[in-house]
Amino acid sequence: MTDTPHRQTRLWHDRADAWLAEGRIDGRAWIGGARVAAADGQTFACHSPIDGRLLTQVARGQREDIDRAVAAARRSFDDGRWARKAPAVRKRILQRWAELITQHKDELALLETLDMGKPIQYSLSVDVPAAARCIAWYAEAIDKVYDEIAPTPANALALIQREPVGVVGAIVPWNYPMIMAAWKLGPALAMGNSVVLKPSEKSPLTAMRLAELAAKAGLPEGVLNVVPGYGHEAGEALALHPDVDALGFTGSTRVGRKMLEYAGRSNLKRVFNELGGKSAFVVFDDVDDPVRAGRTVAQALFFNQGESCNAPSRLLVHEAVADAVIDAALAEVPKHQPADPLSPATVMGALVDEGQLRSVMGHIDSGIQQGARLLAGGRQARADSGGHYVEPTVFDHVQPDMRIAQEEIFGPVLSILRFKDEAEAIALANGTDYGLQASVWSRHLDRAHRVARALKAGTVHVNQYDEDDITVPFGGVKQSGNGRDKSLHALDKYTELKTTWIRVG
Ligand code: NAD
Repeated sequence: MTDTPHRQTRLWHDRADAWLAEGRIDGRAWIGGARVAAADGQTFACHSPIDGRLLTQVARGQREDIDRAVAAARRSFDDGRWARKAPAVRKRILQRWAELITQHKDELALLETLDMGKPIQYSLSVDVPAAARCIAWYAEAIDKVYDEIAPTPANALALIQREPVGVVGAIVPWNYPMIMAAWKLGPALAMGNSVVLKPSEKSPLTAMRLAELAAKAGLPEGVLNVVPGYGHEAGEALALHPDVDALGFTGSTRVGRKMLEYAGRSNLKRVFNELGGKSAFVVFDDVDDPVRAGRTVAQALFFNQGESCNAPSRLLVHEAVADAVIDAALAEVPKHQPADPLSPATVMGALVDEGQLRSVMGHIDSGIQQGARLLAGGRQARADSGGHYVEPTVFDHVQPDMRIAQEEIFGPVLSILRFKDEAEAIALANGTDYGLQASVWSRHLDRAHRVARALKAGTVHVNQYDEDDITVPFGGVKQSGNGRDKSLHALDKYTELKTTWIRVG
């Protein structure tokens, strides 16, 4: 029998219904190698943004739970059960973990979609494979990263060695729950650290499941702990903890500021912030293919419901090609109407929760009130589903001082600004507090290079958007943060450099 989209949709729904009927979704924390309830027994309700259904109760981690998790991590680090294992052994365990993630692809994808609202096809084709590839890639690196010997006089031998920092706290957001966790866990565990992970309260479920699979792969008890809970409770307790040596944070710029304060108020732990963005997609009049540019900006922005830190949420377009680029972007709008995330045909799912829906609608209202021209969308969708959906939305004639030109909306809202020349384009592109990513579209290599150099962003794409890979760093400048996830550079965050100077007789 052919597997029609309709039949596949039914299968995903049936599986979800069975999980809920049997109470199979486990919301307990993972501490010291076991599933545990919060110390005081408190939980919070985890509802699906798809239809508002209650998925499960999740352990509401607090200071006491963080203390237990950090203590378990510290014990596991100090006795060397992971850090001092032979690199080839650690490599094999992480590889096995990546294999298990791939083997549990359907389960993890369904959990991610139910919890976070993204289309099942992307949980399957993007989130699970990217998380598995990240873990496998850092596993491979473990026995290939060499230390250094300094160029000293003949009577000395100076070794410069990487050492794990110890206990790493990782605090991650809800938009790509597995991928964001993997970007922290891969390099931190590869270098021999022990970790306490605090997933977002809005999408905590896959993090605990990943930890269970890590244990199954052979990761020793206590090396990875996951404490779900609210930011101001579990998150703050972890960031303030005096026995956490480094903090890898991904989230908003507002909370990133607090991370630096927490470090200052506690033990000066090293802090790496990966924060928000308002990325500019700059199309010049010498663009080779305006239609491809317009299509690309819309597809990249609407992907993940616009809930991507690097979403190209500002289209800066030269007046001469504006009509062609905007028409091509608008042609994507009907294809991206929100639909049932459990249908394999759906490309735009639900926003993560009611609060995010209100925030996105507030930005749309501000765009209208401040005089931008609404070209498409602008309304809530599928309200009768019980979930949180917004139409793909496009504003033209946006002015640089409008809220929709400056603030990260984190929803499917594109702001279009027009420019007359290169200098104006660069000034507009750099004219926000953020500096995560940007994109330049021009058929002339010298212009593409010149503008790429002038743009204040961690990554600049040229004639494409987001075709990147685990091999290159990901992070921002200005108020988009200071850390770099992915690539071998991420190892620096989770290692200390130790110099050993030996006198040679
Ligand atoms: P958020 O800052 O609200 O929360 C992120 C995490 O911090 C969550 O786990 C939350 O519980 C925790 N937290 C919140 N308040 C805290 C506090 N006072 N103390 C300690 N922890 C606290 O962000 P979000 O809404 O979950 O995620 C969206 C943001 O993340 C966007 O700004 C997006 O751009 C950013 N992001 C950045 C990247 C990147 O790589 N630069 C990637 C993904 C998302």
